[in-house]
Amino acid sequence: MIDLHTHTNESDGSLSPSELIHEARTNGIEALAITDHDTFAGYDLAAPIAQAQAFELFCGIELSTLWYKGDGRRTVHILGYFFDKAPSIEFRNWLKGLQDARRERNVRLAARLQSMGVDVELSEVEALGRSTAGRPHFAKLMVRKGYVANTQEAFDRYIGEEGTAFVERHGPEVTDGIRRVLNAGGVPSLAHPVRLGVRDPQEEEAFIAYLASAGLQALEVYHSDQGPQLVERYSALARKYKMAISGGSDFHGDVKPNVRLGVIPIPREILDELRGRSNNRGRSGCAL
Ligand code: AMP
Ligand code: FE
Ligand code: FE
Ligand code: ZN
Repeated sequence: MIDLHTHTNESDGSLSPSELIHEARTNGIEALAITDHDTFAGYDLAAPIAQAQAFELFCGIELSTLWYKGDGRRTVHILGYFFDKAPSIEFRNWLKGLQDARRERNVRLAARLQSMGVDVELSEVEALGRSTAGRPHFAKLMVRKGYVANTQEAFDRYIGEEGTAFVERHGPEVTDGIRRVLNAGGVPSLAHPVRLGVRDPQEEEAFIAYLASAGLQALEVYHSDQGPQLVERYSALARKYKMAISGGSDFHGDVKPNVRLGVIPIPREILDELRGRSNNRGRSGCAL
């Protein structure tokens, strides 16, 4: 069993990198990719641990990018896998810029919540989020302090796109994200296509075709939000646009308790083709 989409507490997961590896081994996972949001911090901590245990761990990332659609914009998550070559220093530096934009958004979000009488301090959020504090950490604090009953209510009422405290975050355009991963020696894959939220199948396909023409190398066909019918649909689209297939649970630990590692069976065979999309071979891992 393999799992190519997981998060640690360096972004919005609840397990530390070493706990995640332990959990993966306990659950019979043979190969794991850590794909934290906009950071390699979790992978960097996990890599030596995995190596000492001869556990197969891949370097990954999940980039938050923007899709400008009509006069609105949506967030699109692009996964990047660095199987055979460390991502370039330029890419790591670019990620630092994303972190800065995220922090700046967090400052505005905390101020906005304060102005609405929701007492959530930025320092408290950052204490929870380690290298990548985000809205799930705001939600957690709001639950803890009794402003909302659960995470969903925090998003629906306050911090989600329709919420009263929502603030926009600057981010890369989706094709820029894809190009950056490619230029850094990685394999870009579209995370959980179902979450694009495009109901019209033709419109969804047109967008996927557009991303393929921009260099997208894979579709995340297997994901805990995608049942057998969607697996079939996205497999067919991957074939049609000559892309490889990726898959993972999107494990976040306690944050999403019903999504366990290996919750969906992902055939190991997808790895060969995905790996084959790496345009660079040589050094391994994310190490500098
Ligand atoms: P951020 O990157 O800080 O803007 O936060 C985005 C993260 O918040 C996503 O990766 C999801 O894990 C989570 N998220 C976004 N929208 C919702 C929602 N409506 N309900 C629960 N979690 C959400
Ligand atoms: Fe997440
Ligand atoms: Fe995601
Ligand atoms: Zn994810």
